[in-house]
Order: sequence, then structure tokens, then C-alpha cells
Amino acid sequence: MRVTMLGTGAAFVDPDRAQSGILVTLDNGTHYMFDCGAGTTHNMVRANINPADVGVVFLTHLHHDHICDFPLFVITSWMWDRPNASVVLGPKGTKHFVDHLFEGGAYDSDFRARSAYPLRQGNLDAIRPDVREVSPGLVYEDDNVKIFCDFVEHIPREISECFGIRLEAEGKVIAFSGDTAPCEAMVKLAKDADVLFHECTFPESFIEFRSKSGAGTHAHTPPTALGKIAVEANVKRLVATHFGHFESTNQVIHKVGRHHMPVDEMGPHVMDEVVRDIRRSYDGPLQMAYDLLRIDV
Ligand SMILES: [Zn+2]
Ligand SMILES: [Zn+2]
Repeated sequence: MRVTMLGTGAAFVDPDRAQSGILVTLDNGTHYMFDCGAGTTHNMVRANINPADVGVVFLTHLHHDHICDFPLFVITSWMWDRPNASVVLGPKGTKHFVDHLFEGGAYDSDFRARSAYPLRQGNLDAIRPDVREVSPGLVYEDDNVKIFCDFVEHIPREISECFGIRLEAEGKVIAFSGDTAPCEAMVKLAKDADVLFHECTFPESFIEFRSKSGAGTHAHTPPTALGKIAVEANVKRLVATHFGHFESTNQVIHKVGRHHMPVDEMGPHVMDEVVRDIRRSYDGPLQMAYDLLRIDV
């Protein structure tokens, strides 16, 4: 299988990274998408993959940087002749989110205008996703894959459940953390995985700043902890992703980021600090993800 990083940024609009999204493509060409943050549909097309060919989407949680592009993904798939409904897996609240988007929802005018064309009436199912709210365990299975999930620790569960994922296909295992603080559930999901894709939103020094500024800290995994997770889970390869803009040189991000981050310390050199801290315990293959990075598993 091949994994394409559709987006490797976090909650800010970052000119250098789309928001969260990962695409898994099996050797037989079947695609499975995990998260759908802003910019991920554009990157999918950049990778020469038609959104209409992606049949299964898993939303790990309902933070905007993981779901922003979902309307674009669905409407584009409809316009580009997806023949049937996509399957959408997600936490409690996913149905509410999707039900308020298309017919009778935020994009109702677009739906009514576009569905007036006979051409678009031929595949109306494409704009009616098959939403399945899932609970921990085996949540999706077909001839090619098994997808398991479990709760991870990111935001209070009563606000939004957050899932980490384990995917088994072609005799291989990959795991994806979604957003999470270090947690045992993620270690179990990633056990002996061929590749672990794990969030690494902020370096240690930024987490310290955030704890003082009240921006919130419990929600993400520091690099030192990530190295330990990779060792404990015995993964064969680690890909760190979901970077919180700490390396950006963009002037707007520097300006708006001052309440969230020590902006004077921001810059590309911070990524070296992140690598160093992951390496305190993990010495296996390590990649710092960037948009459109492709990994053959
Ligand atoms: Zn996020
Ligand atoms: Zn989040």
C-alpha cells in the first residue's frame, strides 16, 4: 500500500501545510481517507487522485482542522461523477455535522441549483454520504482492509470523541493517532505497526509557553513522549505530522500566533529541536511529514 500525506499542518491557515489528512491507497487502487482538513482535497488532486475515487472517509474527531474540506470533498466528488455514496466513519456528532451540510443544510442552494441539471441527477447518492458513527473496536471491514479505532485523549469526550486508528491490509499494519496527548490506547493501536503516523503538534518549549498563556496543553503529544510511544509500541517506522506552525516564517502567523506560541522562537530551526527530542528514545526510521509525502508500506 501507499500512504499520501494530504495535509500535515494543524489548526491555523498555513501557507506551507494543508490541515490534517492522510490517504491510504492499496495496491489494487482502493483509497481510504483519514481526516479532511482544509487543503486536503486540493492536495489529493495534486497527487493525481480523483476525490470521486475515494470511497471511505474516517473523521478522527470534529475539530475544524480535520473536517473543513469535507463539503468540498463531497461536492467535488458529486460533480466529478462519483456513482454512489461515500462511507463516512466518525465519532458521535458526525451525522449532525453531515446532515447540516447538503440538502436542507449550509450548501442547500448549491445542491438545488446543481441538482437541477439532468447530468447531476444521475448520481444524487454521491451527495448523500452514508454516515456511520462508530465506537471503539473493528469499525470497518471489506475484502481489502480491517479498520480498528479506540478513544484517544485530546478534548473532553462529551465535547467530541476523538479516535486513533489501526488499519490492517495486505499483511501490513499502519496506525494513525488523530490528535491526542500521550495515551495507552494509541500505543495498543500502534503495536508492532509497520508505520505509525503520529501527531507532534508542538515542541516542548512551546507546550511550556502554552501552559502559561492558557492556550491549552493537555491535548497534544510532546516530541519526547512521542519517541517513547514509538519504542513502547515497537513500530518499524515513525512519521511525525500535524505540526502546529512552529517552523513558520509567515508574517501573519507570527502576528496572530503571539497568544498561542513564543513567536520570537519560531522558525525552521525548531524542527531540529523536535527531531532531537523524539530521538531521545526512538532510534528507528523517522520522517517529519510534509504535504504530498508518499510512503510505500
Ligand atoms: Zn488537529
Ligand atoms: Zn484536534
